[in-house]
Amino acid sequence: KSVVAIVGRPNVGKSTIFNRLVGERISIVEDTPGVTRDRIYSEAEWLNQTFNIIDTGGIEMVDEPLLNQMRQQAEIAIDEADVIIFMLNGREGITAADEEVAKLLFKSNKPVVLAVNKMDNPEMREMVYEFYALGFGQPFPISGTHGLGLGDMLDEVVAHFPENEETEKEDDTIYFSLIGRPNVGKSSLVNALLNENRVIVSEIEGTTRDAIDTKLRKDDQDFVIIDTAGMRKRGKVYESTEKYSVLRALRAIERSDVVLVLIDAETGIREQDKKIAGYAHEAGRAIVIVVNKWDTVDSDEKAMKDFETKIRAHFQYLDYAPIVFLSAKTKKRLHTLIPMVQLASENHSKRVQTNVLNDVIMDAIAMNPTPTLKGRRLKVLYATQVAVKPPSFVVFVNDPELMHFSYERFLENKIRDAFDFAGTPIKIFARRRQ
Ligand code: GDP
Repeated sequence: KSVVAIVGRPNVGKSTIFNRLVGERISIVEDTPGVTRDRIYSEAEWLNQTFNIIDTGGIEMVDEPLLNQMRQQAEIAIDEADVIIFMLNGREGITAADEEVAKLLFKSNKPVVLAVNKMDNPEMREMVYEFYALGFGQPFPISGTHGLGLGDMLDEVVAHFPENEETEKEDDTIYFSLIGRPNVGKSSLVNALLNENRVIVSEIEGTTRDAIDTKLRKDDQDFVIIDTAGMRKRGKVYESTEKYSVLRALRAIERSDVVLVLIDAETGIREQDKKIAGYAHEAGRAIVIVVNKWDTVDSDEKAMKDFETKIRAHFQYLDYAPIVFLSAKTKKRLHTLIPMVQLASENHSKRVQTNVLNDVIMDAIAMNPTPTLKGRRLKVLYATQVAVKPPSFVVFVNDPELMHFSYERFLENKIRDAFDFAGTPIKIFARRRQ
């Protein structure tokens, strides 16, 4: 999917535009209990094309002077986006900060679309001409508050999307990514994997932007580690800001089959770990929890059990995710990781036979009667798997309202008992039979 970033001075109207483009999507996401997504990155749609949009203004910079903030925003946009929307305040004209940003954007050679905001009525449109001086071609007059001019501007944005940007996914290649707090050991683990496995390592030039994926082959199985360049590239101030690392994680998750959620054994579980893991879960990807730096812990059986108990308590929604304890530094237990990734991936795309599935469901119902609501009882007629990645099941019932959450959970557990779905979330939808 293409990525669009909005840059511009504070108060120029970036978030207003972001919220308009994202529309109801964000509020839908925020209404779902559990993890709340940051309001800086979301999916948007125009002319039947979905793309991701970043509001660089939402990434907090640590007490930086305006000009530095602007530079950092521009750098993030250049790093991350296929197309950049450069927002300006039509009523104020071109400021020194605008010129600074323009210089950076110009050097990057990324497509830039000028959005001149606060042009609330047609008479003001004349005012956009001065913005030709920035050298990015036609400026588009818009009004964020009134929602004017957005269509023309978006036509221009979409016109710059690279065609067929995604590389053809080879059928059986397993794409995985490593996510976790800064310093949890993501880069160390990637390096350890690449060294240890004596694999054929080749860097695939990023399909877009600066992302560099690394190909890895082990026992006749191809893997791609997503965005390893992002892990190696170091030292930029903005990389350490929390929202930016979340943004990176979201981008990597999106392209993954399997997500490795890294936890630091030395520091233990932190709030940020839960948030990051929540994103992977929400996205429906296969998940393996990796406890890194296990060399720093007295690694007897009991320590492992205790740590596992903690993880299960903190990440209840990830009860399906296997846990691997290892050390990227000493390479202890490192060899257990890749087989686990492979297993999670297989289960993520597993299809089960309809007749076996229905036997399982009917046995479950015989064991634990269906719930009732106001004197009416749920009747389950038939179940079928409708999708993989993650495995998704439709259960046809007399009335979906009667499907209580806890009963759905019970059916999920029965399905999990019957088939091996370790490492993958599964989804169950109750539908009224036509
Ligand atoms: P990233 O920010 O998640 O990519 O983390 P890094 O890979 O840069 O690692 C952060 C720090 O943790 C570095 O100083 C590493 O040497 C250290 N580190 C990484 N893995 C391990 C490990 O398994 N054991 C120990 N003791 N230290 C580790």
